[in-house]
Amino acid sequence: MKKYNFYAGPAILPQEVIEQSAKSALEIGDTGLSLLEVSHRSKEVADIMEEAKTSVYELLHLNDNYEVVFLQGGASSQFFMSAMNFLGESERAGYIDTGSWSTKALKEAKKFGQAELTASSKDKNYNYIPKAYQIDKDLKYLHLTSNNTIFGTQYQGFPDSDVKYICDMSSDIFSKPIDTSKFGMIYAGAQKNLGPAGATLVILDKEFLARTSREVPTMLDYNTHIAKDSSFNTPPVFSIYVSMLTMRWLKKHGGVEGLAQKNEAKAKLLYDEIDRNTLFVGTAQKEDRSLMNVCFLLNNDALVDEFLAQSAAAGCVGIKGHRSVGGFRASIYNAMPQEGVQVLVDVMKSFEEKHG
Ligand SMILES: *Cc1c(COP(=O)(O)O)cnc(C)c1O
Repeated sequence: MKKYNFYAGPAILPQEVIEQSAKSALEIGDTGLSLLEVSHRSKEVADIMEEAKTSVYELLHLNDNYEVVFLQGGASSQFFMSAMNFLGESERAGYIDTGSWSTKALKEAKKFGQAELTASSKDKNYNYIPKAYQIDKDLKYLHLTSNNTIFGTQYQGFPDSDVKYICDMSSDIFSKPIDTSKFGMIYAGAQKNLGPAGATLVILDKEFLARTSREVPTMLDYNTHIAKDSSFNTPPVFSIYVSMLTMRWLKKHGGVEGLAQKNEAKAKLLYDEIDRNTLFVGTAQKEDRSLMNVCFLLNNDALVDEFLAQSAAAGCVGIKGHRSVGGFRASIYNAMPQEGVQVLVDVMKSFEEKHG
């Protein structure tokens, strides 16, 4: 039976990417060797690293003012690494707290400099994106989380400011076009919308990069990895390879612009059903709803397990909500086909016929 993967992360990848990855795990090119065992200094891997990097430039329309690297340690390591590099002891940075990941980012930054809370949506269990706040011109940067994987909220646009943003785009990178000129740094763990866990994409504005704050250990210095094209030490080759294949797939499907249209249509299909169906209610405020992670509840808690069972029977895997929100979360990243969302919507409809 066909399965639709709604897990939040690690998450769905295009089927053709998985198939090509499986082939390359057996043999890369005609080397007679598995990609898992070739040297990271081989031509095969050098080509992969190059294509991965140039694909990021292409998809996000980045000019030469940006550096692109693939690092390890997950998006979580960027919480401290960004502050370690950019926030001097006496410098100030603002943080917008829109959920668990933002909270963690702020906690780490406080270890390095004057990291302050600029705005928060904690008062309503993070069901919205704060909008009314001042961005102090003296801030070194403002840290944002563009899509809140756990709470299902997403910035629909970014605030206007002269202060550069450092943005955690782990769960919506490549899902829609962005104006990159506002960002000093963008980072994203691969395992939500790009590839398997292991690689973290980091994009740095060169001018912002010149404003680093302190000496840091070699491995934690962005310049180290830039100078060696992400191969200062052994990179997570397989994760970068699969990410590269996903970017190839993205380009074939109209790039970020093409995917944005599909993502909007998928999200509309599901949110329309949540709003129409008498049994369900969405958790995020409508104007801040995420196109990637759709969080919703059943009016009747007693039916939760039955709905999960029905969804699973229809092939929908991974829709149980995060414990801090409850209910359900359908993650509908780039690789989720409209057909998968339709299957879930059909389960919701028949559930209403039975229980409504
Ligand atoms: C999953 C996630 C993280 C953590 O990613 P790791 O790679 O596991 O460290 C950070 N930020 C956001 C927005 C996420 O969705």
